[in-house]
Amino acid sequence: MSGLEGIKKITELNLKDKRVFIRVDFNVPIENDKIVDDFRIRAALPTIKYALAQEAKVIIASHMGRPKTEEDKKTMSLEIVAERLRELLECDVVFVHEADGNAPKGLFPALKRNQILLLENLRFSEGEESNSHEMASQLASYTDVYINDAFGASHRAHASIVGLPSIVREKGIGFLIEKEIDMLDKVLYKTESPFLAVLGGSKVSDKIGMIQNMLTKIDTFLIGGAMAYTFLAAKGSPIGKSRVETAKLGLAKELIDRIQGREKKLLLPIDHVIVQELKPGAEHKITTNEIIPEGWMAVDIGPKTRQIYANEILRAATLFWNGPMGVYEVKPFDAGTLAVANAFAETAGTTIIGGGDSAAAVKAAGLENKMDHISTGGGASLEYLEGSKLPGLEVLRQGKAKS
Ligand code: ADP
Ligand code: MG
Repeated sequence: MSGLEGIKKITELNLKDKRVFIRVDFNVPIENDKIVDDFRIRAALPTIKYALAQEAKVIIASHMGRPKTEEDKKTMSLEIVAERLRELLECDVVFVHEADGNAPKGLFPALKRNQILLLENLRFSEGEESNSHEMASQLASYTDVYINDAFGASHRAHASIVGLPSIVREKGIGFLIEKEIDMLDKVLYKTESPFLAVLGGSKVSDKIGMIQNMLTKIDTFLIGGAMAYTFLAAKGSPIGKSRVETAKLGLAKELIDRIQGREKKLLLPIDHVIVQELKPGAEHKITTNEIIPEGWMAVDIGPKTRQIYANEILRAATLFWNGPMGVYEVKPFDAGTLAVANAFAETAGTTIIGGGDSAAAVKAAGLENKMDHISTGGGASLEYLEGSKLPGLEVLRQGKAKS
């Protein structure tokens, strides 16, 4: 079984002299007018290079951030990405200042070899997020072939993801989406056991769907991050003033029961790093067991837990990780997350990481190359593992075109 059944790959489409619209995910983190991490830009390069080598006339489009006000347009312009793309591709990038205008139509005929067009942030146009027919038609008016390589946006039914390809006949996916889905399919359909999932991060609610869908497949769950305290609270363990999702306590209890009923393992932290106030250099203590005293909050898993989790990780054959084990942005509360990252780097099993913060932690530790796959889309990969259909993929399946 493959999630790509009926979807054409870029290599199966004729691109020569065609106007090829490539939807990518260039939603990169920017601080003080600088790109902090160009991971997502680099991940899209193979597809762009391939299209150029096929002598296509290439136009690239992406969203960035969630622009709401006019002020946001200053900090969320893709012009900064155009510059980086020029360096990485060694190619002339013509920046088109309006995403939903007519300009590309006029620019294509004069486009030279080794020259590509890059549209301004799609979300500056109202029609993108509302999936307006006008916006999709405008983009379609100069698109001969549509390629989706924006894995991180494929769970959104937006104009450039769903509206446009539903009008265009020739369409398919790029190399990045192909790799993302192939890796996630390993987790979904071709799993080697033992299968272990490390789940952390801020909210249980983000990950509950994935846990429910994967319950029969996953042998061992290691829980950390803030979501651990919702689980501990559900078991009746004192959690002090740790972050908890009160509305999810019932669901957490139910999951614990269901997992235990199947003789699977769900491990929760047995010790914690705790503080009274969360700030850099805050005085912290390590608990001797799972109990968190009144007035204290847990900000990381403790050393005993790290050891147990690392041992489990070393024994697993298939591993998926989403969400840091603690408030890793504040040192030294990154120790638990680092311990998991190191064990992931060491294990012989197949390692897949989804989630922006977990990926950032792995990269900060310099362990990026030790992982089998780091997903460019946290939300999209979780939705895929939840068993949801990604609208951006569904629209590309043959026989689904409206035209
Ligand atoms: P990912 O992006 O990898 O999916 P999330 O966005 O779900 O991860 O969660 C990351 C956030 O969770 C981080 O900002 C981190 O500070 C927070 N977090 C982790 N552990 C705790 C904790 N014990 N208490 C409060 N916040 C936490
Ligand atoms: Mg996150």
